[in-house]
Amino acid sequence: MVASEFLDPVLRAMLVSNWGNYPKVEAEVKASSESWKRDWKDMEFIARGLGRSYGDASLFKRILNMDSEEGIMDLSEEGIIHVRSGTSLLEIIQYSLPKGYFLPVTPGTKYVTVGGMIAADVHGKNHHIDGTISNFVEEIEIWTPEKGVVLCSADENSELFNWTCGGMGLTGIIMSAKIRLKRIRTKWIKQQVLKSRSLNQLLDLFESHENSTYSVAWLDSLASGSNFGRGILYLGEHASEDHVAEKMRGLNWSPRKKLNVPFHAPSFLLNSFSNRVFNQLYYSFSSERSLVDLDSFFYPLDKILNWNRAYGKRGFFQYQFVIPSQSGVQGVERVLRKLQKEGISSFLTVLKKLGRGRGYMSFPIEGYTLALDFPVSQSAKRKLNNVDKMVHEMGGRVYLAKDARMEADYLRVGYPEHVAFSSFIQHLPFNSNLAQRLKIK
Ligand SMILES: Cc1cc2nc3c(=O)[nH]c(=O)nc-3n(C[C@H](O)[C@H](O)[C@H](O)COP(=O)(O)OP(=O)(O)OC[C@H]3O[C@@H](n4cnc5c(N)ncnc54)[C@H](O)[C@@H]3O)c2cc1C
Repeated sequence: MVASEFLDPVLRAMLVSNWGNYPKVEAEVKASSESWKRDWKDMEFIARGLGRSYGDASLFKRILNMDSEEGIMDLSEEGIIHVRSGTSLLEIIQYSLPKGYFLPVTPGTKYVTVGGMIAADVHGKNHHIDGTISNFVEEIEIWTPEKGVVLCSADENSELFNWTCGGMGLTGIIMSAKIRLKRIRTKWIKQQVLKSRSLNQLLDLFESHENSTYSVAWLDSLASGSNFGRGILYLGEHASEDHVAEKMRGLNWSPRKKLNVPFHAPSFLLNSFSNRVFNQLYYSFSSERSLVDLDSFFYPLDKILNWNRAYGKRGFFQYQFVIPSQSGVQGVERVLRKLQKEGISSFLTVLKKLGRGRGYMSFPIEGYTLALDFPVSQSAKRKLNNVDKMVHEMGGRVYLAKDARMEADYLRVGYPEHVAFSSFIQHLPFNSNLAQRLKIK
């Protein structure tokens, strides 16, 4: 379990937090193998996977831990994998890669469960081409108290399916799923690394490489003057056998040695000075390797276990929002300048291009999404609230899987679908701190 501390062994009460280590809630926690259906009859609770959402999406006073609900049931010849919902992406990769399959859409960490991935309707570096994971979910089994386990898909019980993908666990307990995997020939990615000196240049590069399957940029959110918005764009394509020397052609997955952050760092370590130094070094010394393995390309942050502890005990906010295409380069520029003016600096800033959204409660809409990290403080909260105002005035929205602090009024503006969603989930016994904070329930 991620960041949980025992409080009371009799009540099984725990202090639980997700990846951002904020907020921490006192919760009664049960595993999916326990008698939760009887014990929590007529009570509200929330499902939790591996706690890799950053904020309070899988937090509540009663938490159902689904990570032990794991196991791969089948991988068909057509590449459709049938898994229990607590199965992690790591397990799927270890099982399916040697057979020549990889995930069609993956977030930036492999330590998430299938249930968590569907509930957040995650996007990857290929959203502009392939959309979110729900495009590849053939069917899901969901449990609700009134109907028991129900099968749903884009064609069958489609309303339940559509609200569940992106529904942040508020529509039912995902028990299992069938996902269409992607055929791959090698475990290598042909990578192209393009440096840009300014924001305009960086966004131009995204546009001129919009046919690349994978694209993501690191952006120096602290650079100013003529370097404002400089960054590095990483493009990727799955390599075929022809691109890879014979001795590198095997599809075996060998986990790499990882570094670990053994305890919470003192919070003064990450300040605007250290952030500036890191960003300068990153820009100057980035690797330009042209062939990288899947693990390094998709999951660079997984190389450091518990990297979230570097932000100290108080934790951090990850602020991910999308600015719609119609606001253009100026939109992204306005928000970055606003962040600089507010004086909050992000250690790591990631920029991605998103393609057309699918509606419902799914986060992506066509445009640019930025993800930034800030240590938790009252002042950061207040300042980000000001940035929210600007993002929403431009028609943007905040990603709920990352959020721990947004005010309910912005959800109303950003997600017009929330009205229909709220009425769909009102009678169901699922609730979370996120749902309460944003007045979805
Ligand atoms: C380093 C890092 C990189 C990331 N990169 C990306 C990215 O590139 N793109 C992206 O989209 N996201 C990204 N994320 C976010 C992450 O993919 C999502 O938050 C995902 O939902 C986490 O899955 P989890 O299993 O840890 O679920 P949790 O965090 O435990 O829960 C997330 C949500 O899923 C619900 N849930 C979990 N299991 C079930 C179930 N069985 N039934 C019903 N509901 C359930 C919970 O109630 C909650 O609302 C990243 C996170 C990290 C830490």
